Amino acid sequence: MALDMASAETRPPVISPTGTVMKECPLCGSSNLQTVYRFQQFAVLKCQGCDGSWRSNMYSSGDITAMYTGDEYSQNPYFSYNVEEFKDAAQGRYANYIGALSAIASRVKVGKLLDVGCGSGAFMSVAQQRGWNVTGIELSPDLSQVSRRAVKAEVINAAFESVALPDESYDVVTMWDIIEHVLDPMFCLKKVERLLKPGGVALFCTPDEDSLLARAGLLLYRMSGGAVSYPALALHPTYHTYFFSRSGFKALIGKSGMQVVRCYSQEAFFEHSQLPSPVAKWGIWAIEKLSALADRRYEIVCLAQKPR
Ligand SMILES: [Zn+2]
Repeated sequence: MALDMASAETRPPVISPTGTVMKECPLCGSSNLQTVYRFQQFAVLKCQGCDGSWRSNMYSSGDITAMYTGDEYSQNPYFSYNVEEFKDAAQGRYANYIGALSAIASRVKVGKLLDVGCGSGAFMSVAQQRGWNVTGIELSPDLSQVSRRAVKAEVINAAFESVALPDESYDVVTMWDIIEHVLDPMFCLKKVERLLKPGGVALFCTPDEDSLLARAGLLLYRMSGGAVSYPALALHPTYHTYFFSRSGFKALIGKSGMQVVRCYSQEAFFEHSQLPSPVAKWGIWAIEKLSALADRRYEIVCLAQKPR
């Protein structure tokens, strides 16, 4: 599910949400909520207790399955690179993967790595080249097949939440742009913790509500009384369920039994973006470059370790 705002922000989801409207925070149970955005399609609610945000009308698990098993998802240009051309064709994403693998390797010996939501296998391929024994999980049947062939490794076509895997069997579990799509992030975090060997490392990448880009979008939205909603809406894609802040997400990981050992920001890329103008694209690029100075780029990467 490694889609970001760059790829499909203007595209409606293939289904309408059929889940419930949450009156209490689905992350901590607090009823101290604030409506941050009122977009035409949905609102974004924020919990004052844990700093988590989510779309007002939730998807059901059936909606999620429909969204990620269809052609619209598997044929997204985000997955169009084959693993041989990935290094040259998607240099920014490749650099992000190399940086993450270096950060992981500084904390755990190379061994078994599980990539949850492996898409077309780009990250698994880079990890494999660096010696990792990789396994993937992917909800899309088509992408499962693509990644299985590309990486020549086991790829399980299933939902992470329901798949049976042996406890304490992986040195590393990675989730690139997945945790914001699931219905129960804490369930997934706890499952990751269970699958890790003692001392094992998990990696989570997700957009950050406290990034300069998200803050700039919020400022424009507020200053215009909601009239300028485009940047904010693009930063809150309709297919995302949750919108985490760095501090809130770190606290959530802490409740799973793992310890956050490092958290840094990385640049999001817009090679497939349907942004309305080159000026908007340039503006986002400039903000991301500026954000690098304060380590407040659009996406956060959090490494968490299971205690030994
Ligand atoms: Zn909460």
